[in-house]
Amino acid sequence: MVINKSAKLAAAIAVMLFGMSEPGDGLRVPSRSFRVFGDIDTFKFPLPPNVNPGGLKVSVCPLMYDKKWAYSVEIDDGPTTTLTVTQPLLAKYSFTTAPPGIKGGLRMPFVGGAAIYPFRIGTENASFLNWDQVHELQSKGWSILNHSYWHSGYSWDPKGALSADRLRDEVFWSLSIIAAETPSGNAPTHFVFPNGYMEYKSVINKFGILSASRVAGNKLVGSFKDADRLDIDRNYLDESVWSNSANPLDGLPTNPKPEQMVIDFTHGTDGDPKSANYKRWIERLSWLERQFGSTGSDTMWCAPTDTVIKYRLAAAYSKVTITGHNLVVQVPHEFANSALTIKIVGANSKYMASWQRAIFDKHETTWWTTPVLTQRGFRPPVPRVKRFYKGIINDMDFNPPIDLAAIRIRQFGMATNAEMFVEIVDPKNVVTKLKIYNESTNWGVWHLIPIVPNKEAIKIKSIHLPKGTSFKELEIWTATDVPS
Ligand SMILES: [Zn+2]
Repeated sequence: MVINKSAKLAAAIAVMLFGMSEPGDGLRVPSRSFRVFGDIDTFKFPLPPNVNPGGLKVSVCPLMYDKKWAYSVEIDDGPTTTLTVTQPLLAKYSFTTAPPGIKGGLRMPFVGGAAIYPFRIGTENASFLNWDQVHELQSKGWSILNHSYWHSGYSWDPKGALSADRLRDEVFWSLSIIAAETPSGNAPTHFVFPNGYMEYKSVINKFGILSASRVAGNKLVGSFKDADRLDIDRNYLDESVWSNSANPLDGLPTNPKPEQMVIDFTHGTDGDPKSANYKRWIERLSWLERQFGSTGSDTMWCAPTDTVIKYRLAAAYSKVTITGHNLVVQVPHEFANSALTIKIVGANSKYMASWQRAIFDKHETTWWTTPVLTQRGFRPPVPRVKRFYKGIINDMDFNPPIDLAAIRIRQFGMATNAEMFVEIVDPKNVVTKLKIYNESTNWGVWHLIPIVPNKEAIKIKSIHLPKGTSFKELEIWTATDVPS
């Protein structure tokens, strides 16, 4: 990898310039974040020995596998049926890794993204996913999307308005906790607006989130260099809405435009094969496969929303050349966390046949999809936090004192306390009572009492916790100086 120092300097200047004007809500995003880049990552792939590099023409395909359009499914709020019903249902249908009209691709199942909020994940309420199930979805090609921490905020009543601090807590802690629970340590790059509440928009932009979706957002058609990626449209397929039209193909394009992106969304699919909902999904997915999938034109790429957006950013801002006997791909570091499909014209297919997993036609055109260029993805925000303790609820002393970033308490069952407080004691014996943010008595929640990012971490030497049989588990999060 090559670090381009002048690009780094340009990025520093860009930060200075853009730092002066804070973006407001509704501001179009891409120009601010992406006109100037930081480091450029360079990847070199040696060509097969017999290929003459002289006459080759290379380009990056606008979508993976040189497909014409992209389809995604988003399941909101983390119901367990995402894994038990929706994932296997989608996986019955497929497209291939070959460009349209070319043979030799691998079968790829339809996949989606689970938009989760950590308030309700891993609570032992069997209706919601736990982290093992989240990882199982990821191992099956699904993505985890960020749906805030508590899922708060709405705009249909003034009572639903959130403070700037609360919005920051929602985004900071969902990013930090999902990253901590994910083996790669990366945070999700796609956000789903809870309750369609758009006040999140400027906050997620500041946290560097790449894309966001809601019902009644903008349709993405063609190159989206100028489109608003922080407000992408999606089809609303909850049964209460969908049953009104009862049309299996609601919101699907019969003649997709080049590079169009279509997102379906629901809070869960009905697992009963006899239900109208299940049957309608079968009709929808089999129509997609027949028209645009492995048994049809094979022009559709099905991938989680974040994967599509990451691909398109990498493709839009990358440069591919032949240098010496190498295929050279250059991508801004922040967009290098994607695979890319590269089209090579002029190489004799006889020599390309054994190269990587290339797919080619009879006319000296080769398509090759790189591996994900770099595994280093979207890091959680600063201040970086880490889980210092997870276990039974116990009053505790810390020697040396710790830098408290947040406390999480898992509640399962009705709260017996009228009010919930945590007492913290600093090294000078000053006691502070921290009230719990959300006094929900629902079954199965992970309460969060955040300190950072709105305040500095607090140095404490003791902690005293609420007593009550409904409080099952404790997590203590500390702030660290060293981002990794
Ligand atoms: Zn939701």
